[in-house]
Amino acid sequence: MKPSFEQVWQILQADVVSDAELAKRLGCKPDLVRRARASLGMEPMPLPPSNARMPHEERLMLFSEQRPGGHRRWLGSVSGSGLPVIGSASVARIAFRAEYGREPAGRVQPGCGRRWCVAGPHQTDQSMRDAGGKTLPQGGRPVDLEARARIAEAFKDGPVPNLVVAAQLGVDRRIVAEVRARLHVPRSVRSSSQPKEWTRERFEALTARLPGGHRRWRGRTTADGVPLVGRTETAYRVAFTLHHGHQPDGPVRHTVDCAVKHCVEGSHLNDRRMREDVRALDRAGGVR
Ligand SMILES: [Zn+2]
Ligand SMILES: [Zn+2]
Repeated sequence: MKPSFEQVWQILQADVVSDAELAKRLGCKPDLVRRARASLGMEPMPLPPSNARMPHEERLMLFSEQRPGGHRRWLGSVSGSGLPVIGSASVARIAFRAEYGREPAGRVQPGCGRRWCVAGPHQTDQSMRDAGGKTLPQGGRPVDLEARARIAEAFKDGPVPNLVVAAQLGVDRRIVAEVRARLHVPRSVRSSSQPKEWTRERFEALTARLPGGHRRWRGRTTADGVPLVGRTETAYRVAFTLHHGHQPDGPVRHTVDCAVKHCVEGSHLNDRRMREDVRALDRAGGVR
């Protein structure tokens, strides 16, 4: 059951606890805790401080998120070579131990080929790789006929970008490209003169949820990181349209409450008309 704002307020006032931890404890979304905290005028605290005492297994779950295909994306610190770490400990090893209940032999690697994946069942150690039991095709999890059938199904309604299909089904892009070529599906038109049919599902498949209700764009960007959907259209405009149910009026910007650069969460974006309304309210002495 979703906790009430009042319940969250009471706990926040009595206890120092991050959004992620409290959301897990109460079974609600971290965003609810974030909003309750903000409404109390408290400093944001999306994640537990890195020096907090917490079992590694618990930190593993709090600092990662479920992805399609059974993967778990690590949102915490990474080593110099990009591998998930907690302090100096390898998160892959922690996930391996929790999953198999034994010490790994040799190096632990995600068998799915995704370096950021910390899903327990996707971890392999040297003995498993030697046995060949979990040796997966390079860069992807095993792709069976059923997965190929689902890829073919995804192309039934027309040319969808490979990236979208791969993200939705949790399979490697190269497999999608291979199936597409066999089916002779034409290249998808990405020019902004031919707007693509965006659904919330397709859009969200190209994003990753971040603590605090923000969203990170996983698709194309400009050189300085602005998320793009077409050649020139920003993902902000699509996010805005999907959230508000209408096209934005003038430029889309982030609301004052969202300080995450390049966040593509629709509810964190406003257009000119919304900004003018807020200013009019301010002038009238209203409370935002
Ligand atoms: Zn994985
Ligand atoms: Zn945001």
